[in-house]
Amino acid sequence: MNYTSTRNSSLKATSAHAIVKGLSDEGGLFVPESIPALSKEEILSLGDKKYSQRAFDVFSKFLTDFTPDELRHCVESAYNSKNFDSDNIAEITKLKDSRYILELWHGPTCAFKDMALQILPYLLTASAKKEVKGKQIAILVATSGDTGKAALEGFKDVDGTSICVFYPEDGVSPMQKRQMTTQEGNNVNVCAVKGNFDDCQNGVKAIFTDKDIEKKLSDNNILLSSANSINWGRLAPQIVYYVSSYAQLVKNGEIEYGEKINIVVPTGNFGNILAAYYAKLMGIPVNKLICASNSNNVLTDFINTGIYDRNRKFYTTISPSMDILISSNLERLLYHFTGENDKLINDWFKSLKDTGRYEVNEDVKKKLSEQFFAGFCTDDETKAQIKKTFEEENYLLDTHTAVAVKVYEDYRAKTGDSTKTLIASTANPYKFGRAVFQSVGGNAEGDEFDVIARLEDKTGTKIPAPLAATKNKPIRFTGCVEKQEMGKAVLDFLNSK
Ligand SMILES: *Cc1c(COP(=O)(O)O)cnc(C)c1O
Repeated sequence: MNYTSTRNSSLKATSAHAIVKGLSDEGGLFVPESIPALSKEEILSLGDKKYSQRAFDVFSKFLTDFTPDELRHCVESAYNSKNFDSDNIAEITKLKDSRYILELWHGPTCAFKDMALQILPYLLTASAKKEVKGKQIAILVATSGDTGKAALEGFKDVDGTSICVFYPEDGVSPMQKRQMTTQEGNNVNVCAVKGNFDDCQNGVKAIFTDKDIEKKLSDNNILLSSANSINWGRLAPQIVYYVSSYAQLVKNGEIEYGEKINIVVPTGNFGNILAAYYAKLMGIPVNKLICASNSNNVLTDFINTGIYDRNRKFYTTISPSMDILISSNLERLLYHFTGENDKLINDWFKSLKDTGRYEVNEDVKKKLSEQFFAGFCTDDETKAQIKKTFEEENYLLDTHTAVAVKVYEDYRAKTGDSTKTLIASTANPYKFGRAVFQSVGGNAEGDEFDVIARLEDKTGTKIPAPLAATKNKPIRFTGCVEKQEMGKAVLDFLNSK
């Protein structure tokens, strides 16, 4: 299995190369040259296997340059009951009207990013052994919340790696800040930046292209890398849970093999929903892929009109992980939808860069409307959905998942389609406890831990252990730097190792 680039289809690379590089040199994203198929027997047999084995089976098709021993080490190090609070790793909860909530937040940071970031360090170190033997990998991350913590938990104490996370001093929630500043591990560094998220991201980009820093690190045998959501090593693990869920629903007798399901995904960077599309290409029977957005509804408009236009107001919402105007992983879908036409992709993404806008052709518009449905909802509708689902079904949704449930209700009302539907749940409600507590009618003033304690009382649900534990952990990282000092902070940290 070879990989190529969305902006240069003549490129050929191994999966290890794609994972170490992250982004291709000409700026394209790595994609598999062809999508491997799963037979009926293979899908059915997954039902009897544990999650790590299901992941092994799917990875064996995509990461053919890895040995079985390497893959086994990766999946077993990541998907175990030490890291996840459920043996099933991804749980499925059935609601009424043939809706199934796929809970992707049983990992150490209580958000779905753990599904990929728990395994990425192992995929990356195995890849580095093949591609850049003997080098230490230093991961740099700029975060607005969820990714930074999930990457820290994934990379902590993984041999051959270290990780440095930058976050905007006043730009993350109190819980997210606490989660990061109490981070454990001997190879981790967390640093606040005087600035906003863009300053952090620009600072990290500047470090990646700084020749002086590169030389200093290379003299010490260190290679910089990123844990960005466009990395193939983050996408491949996300395909697994869609394949696994289908096999599980068949095994549980909820669906017959061959029966199509809808999949709803609360979407930001388009990574999670793209993984569902890949699962479909592998042979999982899917009816509609439903793309749910918050008020930042650039994808809703795109899927409905074929025009992508980021020139619009940016909203800060109660589902912050979806507050995005450029959905990077969409480029991969368009590459497949154009029949691997790298010329068109280059044109469209140049136009996006120059004007903030592009329009796809009729053929792609047709494919979008056949395979996808898109909708969005406001913060008020999100809160109303949390209240409704809790009151009617005694199930507490987080703010991101609530967007998905609301958009699905709109879809069903509009189309009358009663196909069984899997809804990706991307965070535990306690991760966004304040907004969730307000939604169910609580007074969410005061300290974060008081608020979530009241949420527990009111709803009879439980604060996940990893979030509760941050309350009594010592704060390890208090540093805060000017944005021009980020490079020095990285060098100081890596030199002290
Ligand atoms: C990252 C994230 C999303 C968006 O996922 P994409 O793959 O970027 O579309 C949705 N919900 C939560 C809680 C997230 O952390």
